[in-house]
Amino acid sequence: MTTALITHADCLDHVTPDGHPEQVARLEHVLHALAGMPLQRETAPMVEDGDLLRIHPQAHLDQIRKAAPDAGHHQLDADTWMSPGSLTAAYRAAGAVVRAVDMVLGGDVQNAFCAIRPPGHHAEKQTPMGFCLFGNAALAAKIALDKHGLSRVAVVDFDVHHGNGTQDLLWDDARALVITSQQMPLWPGTGAASERGKHGQIVNVPLPPESDGAHMRAAYEAHVFPRLREFAPELIIISAGFDAHQDDPLAQLNWSTEDFRRLTQDLCKIADECAQGRVVSTLEGGYDLQALAASAKAHVEVLMEAGA
Ligand SMILES: [Zn+2]
Repeated sequence: MTTALITHADCLDHVTPDGHPEQVARLEHVLHALAGMPLQRETAPMVEDGDLLRIHPQAHLDQIRKAAPDAGHHQLDADTWMSPGSLTAAYRAAGAVVRAVDMVLGGDVQNAFCAIRPPGHHAEKQTPMGFCLFGNAALAAKIALDKHGLSRVAVVDFDVHHGNGTQDLLWDDARALVITSQQMPLWPGTGAASERGKHGQIVNVPLPPESDGAHMRAAYEAHVFPRLREFAPELIIISAGFDAHQDDPLAQLNWSTEDFRRLTQDLCKIADECAQGRVVSTLEGGYDLQALAASAKAHVEVLMEAGA
């Protein structure tokens, strides 16, 4: 058993305007950091529309397709842009998580990391937002549940921003435990502990600005790990954003690269206990290029140790 790295060069063709934090160089830095590691490298397929329809209505697919420009940029909201390559990049990103779930649940690999962009956890049912077009992590959950027939999956989102899209897409699905920690207050403003999902299966863990890795660990030990163990998911999906890093320019948490390593170890340990070690991780945010690359590398090193 091993760790799959799923990506596609098309994800580098999603080009944002100069100075935009969600830039091509992010993925280049991550891939460079992972170069030479003994991963099972896989090319992300294009997602099927039929799979996207598990999380988004046809109107959303039509909206995104129509918004793709032939040249230049098209602005979807204050933060979210499309270039001529964005539609294909988004289809590859969503295709990557589908492939990852297929490989992990098919027993081809122990776990998988999807090095993709655009990210996904802010995309709501009919609303692209926050650099995101399609809800990649929620799609991974639906594929595991509806295509592979699992009964329980968990999504753990440690991106510094609230996973409002994942929460929206899985709000009424009792089979999906969604745990999302985020700096609060911070954009997009949602993610209070009182937001609990239709079946109480959504767990929001707000963290105060300037809090560090020790604060995060205490919060996870109090609110996240016990809930995960109680739910006993058959697969853990990680929305792996690295923008809680102390060097990140978009937020004010003070996690270190080693905090991401240790958190990944804790999640892999729980996956070992209840999910046969099965983990699918997908890249979300992370906007300091060096911190992103180092943290993603530490995250994948742990996946590889867990899959060895
Ligand atoms: Zn983020």
